Parts: sequence; structure tokens; C-alpha cells
Amino acid sequence: MTFFNFMFLVLGATVIWFVWRYKKVMEIRLQEESWLPARLQGAMLKFSEKKFFDGGLYPLVAQVDRAYQTLDGEIILVDFKRRSVKRAFESDMVEISAQRVTLLANGVTQVSRLAYVVVIDPSTDVKTPIPIQLEDEEKIRDRQRRFIAISNGKIVPSSTSAAGICRRCGHKRYCDKVVID
Ligand code: SF4
Repeated sequence: MTFFNFMFLVLGATVIWFVWRYKKVMEIRLQEESWLPARLQGAMLKFSEKKFFDGGLYPLVAQVDRAYQTLDGEIILVDFKRRSVKRAFESDMVEISAQRVTLLANGVTQVSRLAYVVVIDPSTDVKTPIPIQLEDEEKIRDRQRRFIAISNGKIVPSSTSAAGICRRCGHKRYCDKVVID
């Protein structure tokens, strides 16, 4: 084999590798983005797995799974939940609303009250985005004030009516309001 043929083979193999690699990357990208709802098509990923604090004695601490910036500049929060029921719970809404408030406290503007809980089916990994409407900042600050008052013993917490929450609660062994089903 001449040197020219050898170089031709190397060049051919390199081109094939680049084409294969490009196709793989595009496949992964398409797979990753196939669940994106219409509102997030073309949006830019702004934050991923990022923790935010709002300062203060009892700070709000929130871990943002993902935040996308849409073409019109709005920031939309996305939170992934691995569960077999395709639904968003009130606790999801409160959690993501708190993320929104910490983002606002960190100077991130235009954070939408529309957000998505993306339910990942544990057996198929299929992702289903569920749109939710977040609580406003005042409501979250009310919840924060209530939490501080409970922590300081100034008010007595009310019990939940959901036995499922008690089942997973770390206080259930000592709690006199535990709900058992
Ligand atoms: S065990 Fe008590 S503290 Fe825990 S969730 Fe149930 S009622 Fe609330």
C-alpha cells in the first residue's frame, strides 16, 4: 500500500467516525428533547441542578432541576419526578414555587408562574410534562413565616390528612397527630 492510499484510508475512517459521532449526538439530543412541551421548543437551558439561597436567618434553599429561557426571555422551571402516577402533587407546586422565589431573590427576572413537573415512568423512562401554575411570592413568604413560627414553637402545626405523607415522615414515631390508614 502506498503512502497516499494509507493517508486516504485514514482520512476516510476519520470522516466516517465524525459522521457517526454527529449522528449519535443528534440522536441523544432528539431523544432528550422529545418530551419538551411546545412552550419550551427552541428554549435555551439556563440552569441545571443548581442550588439557590435567598439569605436571611431562615433562608429559602431550593435546588433547581432545570430552568429554560424561552425565545421571549421568560424563565420556565422544570422539575423531574420519578413516579408511576402521571400527576403533579400540591407539594410539587410548593417546592417549585419556592425555587421561583429564590431565583427572584437572586436577581433572576421574568421567572414564569407556569412550570412543568416532568414525570418519569420508573419502568419505561418515558417523560410526561405536566404544566402547573405556581404560587405567587407572597404565598410562599407566608409559608416561610409559618415555618419559622412553628420552628420557634410560636404556633402549633396542624396535621396532614394524608396517611401517605405520614408514612414517609421522619417524625411519625413521636407525632400524636399521625394519620394511619
Ligand atoms: S406524622 Fe405528624 S408531623 Fe409527620 S406528616 Fe403526619 S401529622 Fe405531620
